[in-house]
Parts: sequence; C-alpha cells; structure tokens
Amino acid sequence: MNALLGRIYQDYFMPGRWQEYESLLRAALDAGYVFLPHRELGSLREGQKTFFLRHDVDSDVPLAGKMLAIESRLGIRSTYYLRLCTLDGELIGQARQAGCEIGYHYEELAAYAKAHRLRDPAQVMDALPTIQKEFIHNFHAFVDKAGEVTTAASHGDFVNRRLGLRNTCLLTPALRRELGIVLEAYDPALESRVTARISDREYPALWSPEPPEAAVARGETVILTLVHPRQWQRAPLSRLGQDWTRLREGVRYGKQ
Ligand SMILES: [Zn+2]
Repeated sequence: MNALLGRIYQDYFMPGRWQEYESLLRAALDAGYVFLPHRELGSLREGQKTFFLRHDVDSDVPLAGKMLAIESRLGIRSTYYLRLCTLDGELIGQARQAGCEIGYHYEELAAYAKAHRLRDPAQVMDALPTIQKEFIHNFHAFVDKAGEVTTAASHGDFVNRRLGLRNTCLLTPALRRELGIVLEAYDPALESRVTARISDREYPALWSPEPPEAAVARGETVILTLVHPRQWQRAPLSRLGQDWTRLREGVRYGKQ
C-alpha cells in the first residue's frame, strides 16, 4: 500500500487502535517501567527503567482524550504538548487530574514565515526578535488557560521543512529564563539519556524505527515514545478540514 492510500485509510476508514494502545502501555508497566512526565527529567534515576510518553496534539483533541482515559485507568503519567489551536479546557482539566503534564507545542517561527510568505531562512532569522515577542505573548496566553507550564516542544510544519529551520531557533537561553521554561523536548539533556527513541507513523508503517514493545522486550533503560492522536483513529470531518487548510496554506506560501 502506498503512502497516500495509507493516509486515506487512516484518516477516513481506520477504526480506533485503542486496544493496541492499552496493551503496549501494559507491556511497559508489566516490565517494570516508570512513566515520567518531561518536567521530571531531574528525577530520572540511574538504572531505573523509565518511559517518557509524549503526545504532540497537533489536531484531534477528542482522540487525545481517549489516550488520556486509557492512561488514567492504568495510572500512567505522560506529557501532552498542545498547540494554541488544540488548547482545550476539558483535556487540560482531565490531564491535570491524572497527574499528566501540559506543555506548549509552539510554532511561532513557521507561523511568522507563513504569514509574511518568507522563503529565505536569512529573512526569517532577521525577524527573530519580532517572532520571539509573538512567542512571549502566546506563551502567556497559553499559561493563562493551561496553568503552570515549564516545558515546550517544537511543532514541525511543512514551512519548517522548506526553510530548513526549526522553531527551536527562537527559544534562546535568555527567553527560557524569562519564561521559566526548563526543558525543550529536543534538548540534549533529555535526548542524551534516551536509549530508545520511537515515534508513531502513518498507516501502514505505524512505528519508526520499531514498535515500543520491541524496546520494552529488549529492556532498554530509557524509552521515549512520541505519539500523535491523528495516527490512532479515523476522523473524516476533522481530516478534511486539516487537508483543506494545508492545501490553502501551501498554495498561499508557494505564490510570489
Ligand atoms: Zn506537532
């Protein structure tokens, strides 16, 4: 099956893979893994089998809610990175109650480049002070709704790929200090501790480079698994909207 057909199946026809989700988490619990939110990196103990479960909630908040319900039932604490467009009060309340972390999934660099149709990375870097002001403004608005936020994770947009620039460029040490951000999800402080880094992929690949169960079975010391709600169940109306937005943005950004 090619990638496009896989995507169509996943977005428009695929039933929820919730049993699979629950069983992979159970496998980690049964093997003695401790689940840590990102903000608790400092309490990582040498030799303790640890599992960082990270959610990038790019879209499909209701599906993130389904993941959270499964994790709550199992007593698992994970990290939910929300964008401004997925900052949902109900999800935040439930995540907080379950002891999960809410972090900021930010994209100000890509958003600015799109809004101003900047296609030269140098032009984007010149605008960094303005982009950082936008970030500060948005971060405060995010915290107003989400409560205390101490970690952030860069979102990846097609514009980031075209520019060859990640949003992480904007998050300087001074800005982190000013806003109380102790960790960016791609920081070496975390990455260097991880022994198996896994991410979900679109159907039919499902995982890269391997399913988490394989890392659990090998007894990897520190597993980091990144999941995106959209990869776990169809949501035709939501995906139609997302595809339309992506198409519109692509056309607008591509034009002179
Ligand atoms: Zn993202």
